[in-house]
Amino acid sequence: MIDTFYLHLEFTNKKGGWSINLPFLCNKCGVCCTLDDFLTAGEIGGTPQSNPEVNAKVKALFESLGGMWEADEAKYDQYIMHNPCPFLVDTSCSIYEIRPEGCQLFPKTAFGMQTQDCEPLHRFKKGRSAVKRGKHTAETYHFTGKTQGNINPVKFTEKQYQTCINKLRQAGMTDDEFTLFEYFNGKNKSCV
Ligand code: SF4
Ligand code: SF4
Repeated sequence: MIDTFYLHLEFTNKKGGWSINLPFLCNKCGVCCTLDDFLTAGEIGGTPQSNPEVNAKVKALFESLGGMWEADEAKYDQYIMHNPCPFLVDTSCSIYEIRPEGCQLFPKTAFGMQTQDCEPLHRFKKGRSAVKRGKHTAETYHFTGKTQGNINPVKFTEKQYQTCINKLRQAGMTDDEFTLFEYFNGKNKSCV
């Protein structure tokens, strides 16, 4: 199961309700790991015993940044604004399996949903607006992953589904996002 968030959309009309799931697909570009809130992403997973090197690095980093902040707040601000997360290697997270909770949730965080830097989020928002336009809609966000339960069941006619796809494609949905959309709506057994 892919680890991501998705929007469950429920539409009401005179003939009764229907619903779809709209998943978010991270393209692992690493841009969010260069943003200035990477340091507030929370504690990493695992234990000091299971990941001694990473834990030591995190501890040293926090001590160094804490010292910098106490000595000169402006310097600290400059530092976090102009330095990527130290665990970013090329465009990949080197501690992906134990990355902090904030990183796991991103961009579905208060700060993340406002960011202009995440391309797939931009498409996700465009798609959401396109399928909702002119309809009475209730929406709830959900997360997949080990502790987050199963994907919400959906209900639609073929025509409703095809209309959604057309709108999402017009909003720029990529082939991988389309495959994931099909999976989240029970149309495809394989994930991306
Ligand atoms: S900026 Fe968006 S697409 Fe890029 S790694 Fe972060 S969440 Fe994924
Ligand atoms: S811990 Fe990993 S996912 Fe989180 S900001 Fe750093 S490189 Fe990105």
